[in-house]
Amino acid sequence: QVKRSGKNGFRFFDPELNHHHHDRITLENDLRTAVDQSQLQLYFQPQVSLSQQRVVGTEALLRWNRPAHGFVAPDLFIPLAEELGLIGEISRWVLNAACGQLAQWRRAGFADLKMSLNLSTHDFEREDIVSAVIECLQRHDIPPNRLDLEITESMMMQDTTLVAHKVRQLRDAGLGIAIDDFGTGYSALAYLQKIPVSTLKIDRSFVRDLDGPVTNPIISAITGIARGFGLQLIAEGIERPAQAETLRALGCDVMQGFYYSRPTPPNETVAWMTRPPAGLLN
Ligand code: C2E
Ligand code: MG
Ligand code: MG
Ligand code: MG
Repeated sequence: QVKRSGKNGFRFFDPELNHHHHDRITLENDLRTAVDQSQLQLYFQPQVSLSQQRVVGTEALLRWNRPAHGFVAPDLFIPLAEELGLIGEISRWVLNAACGQLAQWRRAGFADLKMSLNLSTHDFEREDIVSAVIECLQRHDIPPNRLDLEITESMMMQDTTLVAHKVRQLRDAGLGIAIDDFGTGYSALAYLQKIPVSTLKIDRSFVRDLDGPVTNPIISAITGIARGFGLQLIAEGIERPAQAETLRALGCDVMQGFYYSRPTPPNETVAWMTRPPAGLLN
């Protein structure tokens, strides 16, 4: 028996899923409430430059502390929010909260710090996405070149002309645009010639088995692409120093991962940034 599952095609009908239909309805209702009652929060994960031996940015990662359940993974509730049409409201909240946090850190002396945040495909379909972002930056008195928007390759594959137009407007305004999870999206690289992105984030699946001086051909290819197009590189998912060593040797300078810090609430992030554990940044 086959059941339609949204626009992703088909999946096999699973009686277990049906059994849990009630749970899903509760989850949906809870998510609507979460948005209304501000149960959402942002955690932040540092991005460090090895050459500069300092924190250059943080990525804002959304957390939902669901009452009586605990934290729900964004990989689980973001797709649900997209399906339920709640993502627009959530993304607006994320944008404002991330800019508010950055503004506060800037006032506290982290003047050069950058902020990255994740956008969903749906956000780019919004007519007013460009003006909304620029207005938010102005409201928080943040120079546009301090914000990077992370988008995925699947977004590039949608309406290339429309996406290219919006990305160009954002880049012209001074913002950075990063391709998240780069290399995992079955994409045609041709979009890199049409869409003026600024950064590639090497997906952690390529970093995982990078422990020796073994050259991973995918990483070499990605660093080559970044060099060729003049793009910045950030490696995600660094868990061990050997991975950072190998990436550094291949020309990647900015690192993000549990080895440096897990995503944490802002007070822990600022403590970490103020006094990074000795030896970690070199
Ligand atoms: P992402 O943007 O690729 O974020 C990186 C994910 O990898 C985060 O998971 C982070 O906690 C995790 N991570 C970081 N370093 C390591 C590491 O060393 N090892 C391992 N195993 N994992 C690491 P998280 O926070 O659960 O977020 C998952 C995904 O949910 C994100 O992937 C992003 O696509 C999405 N997401 C998170 N926050 C938002 C948001 O505010 N808006 C939207 N639209 N999507 C979001
Ligand atoms: Mg990201
Ligand atoms: Mg990623
Ligand atoms: Mg991801």
